[in-house]
Amino acid sequence: MMSTSPTPASAAESHARIVVVEDERTIARTISDRLSAEGWTVAIAHDGPSGVATIENFKPDAVVLDVMLPGFDGLEVCRRVRGLGEFGVLMLTARDEESDMLVGLGVGADDYMTKPFSMRELVARLKALVRRVRRNASTPEANAPSKIELGDLVIDRDSRRVTRGGNEAHLTPTEYDLLVCLALAPGTVLTREQLLEDVWDWVDATGTRTVDSHVKALRRKLGSDLVRTVHGVGYALEVPEGELA
Ligand code: CA
Repeated sequence: MMSTSPTPASAAESHARIVVVEDERTIARTISDRLSAEGWTVAIAHDGPSGVATIENFKPDAVVLDVMLPGFDGLEVCRRVRGLGEFGVLMLTARDEESDMLVGLGVGADDYMTKPFSMRELVARLKALVRRVRRNASTPEANAPSKIELGDLVIDRDSRRVTRGGNEAHLTPTEYDLLVCLALAPGTVLTREQLLEDVWDWVDATGTRTVDSHVKALRRKLGSDLVRTVHGVGYALEVPEGELA
């Protein structure tokens, strides 16, 4: 099961490398100082093009990425760096609605925070993100099923490939983790808080919007019938129709 890892937090996210791409220099400096105080190594970029170059050279564990940037924006940065390695992207947006919009576009960030945000929350979410990136980089647990087949939905956990009806869906790491979490308990209603804890490794009232946004992305990529909303409770994966093997 995808229970929360018992790994000591201090060890799991130690020596993280973070790139901060933010054109507002005061905010960039404040974030950088706070992360440096955690013992992390931080690089700062102030526009889109240098953001991409910094991410490419610095090999970060995670990127804090502002949406509105000079040169080109955070969406374009996200598109250009996605194939460059295993790192998480936490996007800073101006409004909650902007986060929903970005998920709808399939930009591929792993988490979103709306400005203004608390520095403490940013650190907590980054720690969770780094933990997840490092967990995903290692092989799945030995006792986990390597393949999940539900109707016409197939999840290959060794290659992290997902197909529905034979068509491959290109999911972000977070979308993939969310799908696996739901697929391990098909038909079972999981609350947003449970999903946050299992997939994102943190729970906060504001985070439930993040879950909603990623469910939207899963529906868009895999079909609207796959994930059922249980109003006021949470989400459940419906076993999809499909030829049975
Ligand atoms: Ca900005």
